[in-house]
Amino acid sequence: MNDCIFCKIVAKEIPATIIYEDDEVLAFMDIGPIIKGHALVIPKKHYDPITETPDEILAQLHITAKKIASAQLNAFGADGVNIMQNNGKASGQEVEHIHVHVIPRFNNDGHHWNWNAKKYDDIDEMNELAEKLREQL
Ligand code: AMP
Ligand code: ZN
Repeated sequence: MNDCIFCKIVAKEIPATIIYEDDEVLAFMDIGPIIKGHALVIPKKHYDPITETPDEILAQLHITAKKIASAQLNAFGADGVNIMQNNGKASGQEVEHIHVHVIPRFNNDGHHWNWNAKKYDDIDEMNELAEKLREQL
């Protein structure tokens, strides 16, 4: 049995305020908006996390996120948009069905991400991490 809440939204087993739908993706309003007007884009088929999601689905998710960002800019007069996608509990992900957050932003909307930038001990520390990544790419 699939207990995924977003699969249930796709199956129309639980309600959602849908704003866009096509064969591959569904977009609906987030019930806990960071900023009012916050929307989510999901694939109709269950995938998670991003590393297990086919490239063509990722493309569709992000193309749709772009459409919704335009709609937020035009419909709400938003001044900017955050596009976010969490993977794994450590990242803050709560619903384990891949989703893209599209969050309208307004000058002086009062929201501040806790973007607590750190410093490397030295350039070697950063280079060592970069080398580990290069070996995987
Ligand atoms: P994340 O932390 O990236 O997994 O985000 C999950 C998001 O799903 C949160 O922003 C929730 O507010 C949102 N959410 C959870 N359940 C629902 C629901 N039934 N309808 C709409 N949004 C939901
Ligand atoms: Zn699902």
